[in-house]
Amino acid sequence: MPHPLPQFDLPRQANEKCGVVAIWGEQSPARHAFLAHFALQHRGQESAGLCTTDGRTIERAVGMGLVSQAITPSDIERLDAHATQRAQTNSIRKPGGAIGHNRYSTTGPSAAANAQPLVGHYRGGPVALAHNGNLVNAVQLRKSLEARGHAFATTSDTEVMLALMAAASQERETDALAEALQQVTGAFCVVLLHQDRVEAARDPHGWRPLAIGKMPSGNYVVASETVALDVLGAEFVREVEPGEIVTISDDGIASRRFADVAPRRAHCVFEHVYFASPASKIFGQTVQTVREQLGAKMAEEAPVEADLVMPMPDSGRSAATGYARQSGLPYREGIIPNRYVGRTFIKPTDEERAAAVRVKLNIVGDVVRGKRVVIVDDSIVRGTTTKIKMDQVRAAGAKEVHLRISCPPIRYPCYFGVDFADPKELIATGRGVEHIRAQLGVDSLHFLSIDGLLAVAACDEVTGEHFCTACYSGEYRIPVDPELRKNAMAAKC
Ligand code: SF4
Repeated sequence: MPHPLPQFDLPRQANEKCGVVAIWGEQSPARHAFLAHFALQHRGQESAGLCTTDGRTIERAVGMGLVSQAITPSDIERLDAHATQRAQTNSIRKPGGAIGHNRYSTTGPSAAANAQPLVGHYRGGPVALAHNGNLVNAVQLRKSLEARGHAFATTSDTEVMLALMAAASQERETDALAEALQQVTGAFCVVLLHQDRVEAARDPHGWRPLAIGKMPSGNYVVASETVALDVLGAEFVREVEPGEIVTISDDGIASRRFADVAPRRAHCVFEHVYFASPASKIFGQTVQTVREQLGAKMAEEAPVEADLVMPMPDSGRSAATGYARQSGLPYREGIIPNRYVGRTFIKPTDEERAAAVRVKLNIVGDVVRGKRVVIVDDSIVRGTTTKIKMDQVRAAGAKEVHLRISCPPIRYPCYFGVDFADPKELIATGRGVEHIRAQLGVDSLHFLSIDGLLAVAACDEVTGEHFCTACYSGEYRIPVDPELRKNAMAAKC
């Protein structure tokens, strides 16, 4: 019997938690939300969930893994049948709505109990809530709510928002969502499903993207990225404004504020560098266009005498295109990914990891042999796999290896929804560029400057000062004291 091929979980670069979707009034809302989450799969692969309403109750389906694994065809049928009952039993023309979520988390238990949307109750009835981002004061709020007798069912910071809504509306009619959101600090894009509407809200700094689209039917949909709107055939209308709550119901779309827009927003610039789909438009610009321009900017900042430019697949492709165009060097694909390498969750040794990288990426000897090669990637986190890849290119006969990274060195932790490695494991923490170059064994190394990054990311609608760059600069847009930092690490959803 043949031996099974080795399967290794290669070190993750950086992971973001969560994509969200909300849709109202459309036939088969669960199916639409499901399709939208396919387009958002890059934002989270740990678990996925959908909820629908029939105008009275909320039906939920969640599971672990990719959207296609977590949500079965029978789940979708059950949820859509539930939503359709609203139109059949209430002499209302439209079915109810749906919200959905896909999640990534590297902290806390990887359990279905933490899968979203979460369902709770408040004065206004049953409510389901899904969240993208990270609350930095969730631990304090949780303690305070527990002291007042609230029992939590999950370890997710998202449940804190449901508990705050219930607490706010316990004794009086109020805008429970607005009151809850006024108490939480950090990064959040949330979608909620009520009996008669969906709502979507974004924190006052606008850390994560959240887009509104209009379906061909005239109904509205909200999703983390415009690529999800495209899948549904929806037309991009605008982003949900920082500090805004958008309501979508049978009456159409309405807006109210729970907070002013922060004077200096904090759009995550790493969304442009790495996270968001190249096909999406976020913070006023198309991601693919920005990434190509980041490559071009690198070619201006760090030109080098070389024979060709090649990307680190797949993440470096867009920037490599821009670098090649700006530098006039030929673009070649010399590193070929094997898309059929599976993943398990064993912890490989260094030797096994190197073997796994060799299996996952093959070098085209004819492209690199005897050549001075510029390799473009979007970021370096730990640097362990980068070193192995650079050694592979060298071993394949490259005469010179010049590495260009389309963002600055990542040196500080993120508390706003991105899981980088432990700061102690980041290759750039406490190290200069020359030190990193020597460690990676390349002939030259350049990280795009913060100024260069912001010059490209900025546009008419969003100037450079409205981007968060804390993981590069250590300048956090909101105070993050040591206690808060500890709490943030514990509070990840
Ligand atoms: S710290 Fe970095 S990854 Fe986190 S929100 Fe800011 S720019 Fe994005």
